[in-house]
Amino acid sequence: MKKHNYSAGPCILPKEVFEQAAAAVIEYNNSGLSILEMSHRSKDIVAVMEEAQQLSLELLGLQNKGYSALFLQGGASLQFLMVAYNLLKNKGAYLNTGTWASNAIKEAKNIGQVEVVASSKENGFRNIPTGYQIPVDADYFHCTSNNTIYGTQMKSFPKTSIPLVCDMSSDIFSRSLDFSKFDLIYAGAQKNMGPAGTTLIIVKDEILGKTGKTIPSILDYKVHIEKESMFNTPSVYAVYVSLLTLRWLKNIGGIPAIEKINNQKAALIYGEIDRNSLFEGYADKADRSNMNATFTLKSTAHQETFDALWKKAGIVGLNGHRSVGGYRASMYNALPLESVQVLVDTMQELEKTV
Ligand SMILES: *Cc1c(COP(=O)(O)O)cnc(C)c1O
Repeated sequence: MKKHNYSAGPCILPKEVFEQAAAAVIEYNNSGLSILEMSHRSKDIVAVMEEAQQLSLELLGLQNKGYSALFLQGGASLQFLMVAYNLLKNKGAYLNTGTWASNAIKEAKNIGQVEVVASSKENGFRNIPTGYQIPVDADYFHCTSNNTIYGTQMKSFPKTSIPLVCDMSSDIFSRSLDFSKFDLIYAGAQKNMGPAGTTLIIVKDEILGKTGKTIPSILDYKVHIEKESMFNTPSVYAVYVSLLTLRWLKNIGGIPAIEKINNQKAALIYGEIDRNSLFEGYADKADRSNMNATFTLKSTAHQETFDALWKKAGIVGLNGHRSVGGYRASMYNALPLESVQVLVDTMQELEKTV
């Protein structure tokens, strides 16, 4: 039986994507070859890379608007460094909303001056700070749209005259935003888009080349743009599976269609967390993530019973991140509404049992 996969990443992908991906390993496109053994310079694979880049821009509404899309390796973690290498001349401004944002800050500090404009660390990263000032003399402002570990999500983004950079690893393609407000977006594929092994970077070309410093080739966005994500051998299979997921998303109606379902899933789980006397949410209500719902049992006395219930229901990956504890329901695009209903049912069953 297929499990209800609540894993925070690598994540659930649509069934048809798994099937198409499996078929391509046996033989790709009637070529007599597995996709795993094909040259990245072959016509078939160049087409995969191009379509993945174009479809990413298309789904975000950024085609022909001066943006490039790249599929690179090294995860979102390498982007913490690459962003600073490519953009930081004098100072980078950062919003600290969690572990990943903290890591981005740490890496940028190796490159130059960093100003943390606000942080919710004192509050256990339960909320998104407000009322902060973004210094106009900074080279860019960096934020994290969705904090995978704590279950918070930025519902709005600050207006600023400096380039806006965003780590969207765990909520890219999940909701409608005016993506043209952003100058650089990056996302590790494995949270909401594909398998681990590739990272999508969307960058506005005009913000590059301004630091006056030499950037090592493999860290230079301009080099990767010029080589169309083939400066070194790309992780073709990870890009291909991401492409299959993007095609699936386009077929079901794109971001507006998935956003509707994501809102329904979030309403269902948070409704139960708030209704059920045994549970409480971790994140502040106003900043709750539609992707990762974090919650705890009010009494650990019920933990064993609850864990047994959801495991019996075929749920996996529900344990919270080790730094937060409790539970985390990651409801990425491919997780069906029915899976959330199964979880809600086990929460209600627990209430009846104890
Ligand atoms: C998981 C995650 C990362 C780290 O991604 P890697 O691809 O493992 O480097 C960075 N940012 C956010 C928001 C994440 O959820």
